[in-house]
Amino acid sequence: MIFRKSIYKTPAQLRAMVEPGLITAAALEAVRPLVRAGVTTLELDAEANRVITERGARSNFQLVRGYRHTICASVNDAVVHGIPTDVPLQPGDIVSVDCGAETAEGWNGDSAITVVVPDPARPDLVAQREELSRVTEGSMWAGIAALAGATRLGEVGDAIQTYIEANPLSFSGKPAGILREYVGHGIGRKMHESPSIFNYRTSDPGAEVKPGLAVCIEPMMTAGSEETFVEDDDWTVSTVDGSMGSHWEHSVAVHNGGIWVLTAPDGGAAGLAPFGVTPTPIA
Ligand code: MG
Ligand code: MG
Repeated sequence: MIFRKSIYKTPAQLRAMVEPGLITAAALEAVRPLVRAGVTTLELDAEANRVITERGARSNFQLVRGYRHTICASVNDAVVHGIPTDVPLQPGDIVSVDCGAETAEGWNGDSAITVVVPDPARPDLVAQREELSRVTEGSMWAGIAALAGATRLGEVGDAIQTYIEANPLSFSGKPAGILREYVGHGIGRKMHESPSIFNYRTSDPGAEVKPGLAVCIEPMMTAGSEETFVEDDDWTVSTVDGSMGSHWEHSVAVHNGGIWVLTAPDGGAAGLAPFGVTPTPIA
């Protein structure tokens, strides 16, 4: 007989995931203002690692086999899994930073933001890249809001795709491209656990949404085609057509009283407000 570990966690386990979520959020908040021209993504990596270790946790990215860094930094046509480098950021670069922390007790957080490096000389370019980031972030919040009322995880992907289609990019007139091969996931004792969460509509209803679920919702979008390839470094996922990418992510708990965004200090209140959803602290 095969015994499968339940994907659903106890209230105490979900409460233990608040701390790694907040540490992950603090690391990203420390990195965000450093995303500017002349700074290298290795410097962003060092800052994230400093914040995580200062708070008694460790980088869970460093626990991924073959990976040595604290963040993934995906610049311009790189969408996800970019490796930090010593190349200085340029004005107008769009940078997705993905980061996670594991506490001494062994619980994980995972979150990503996208930031555009200011470029006063090219306001149109900056506006386009900020729009891509804003739509990607909006689709993440739409997915999280859907989770609050969902019975199956497939409703999250449906909500993400619906949001993307309802908000076509003004500069192309087309919806952002949704990466198909990369998906959200459960989180807990490990950064990556079952179940998978698609960022698009599928015929798969997905796992049952009920108290105890802890998942990462992480849409990965492009300003053009959704076709990507993995660079020679075996990590970086870049667009085939050279269009810009954006990645946003939060870790979210479903509990008896509702949902709580573990990697947002306000539990997701600000991001969820436009969707009429109010997060509830985990009791
Ligand atoms: Mg991540
Ligand atoms: Mg993730």
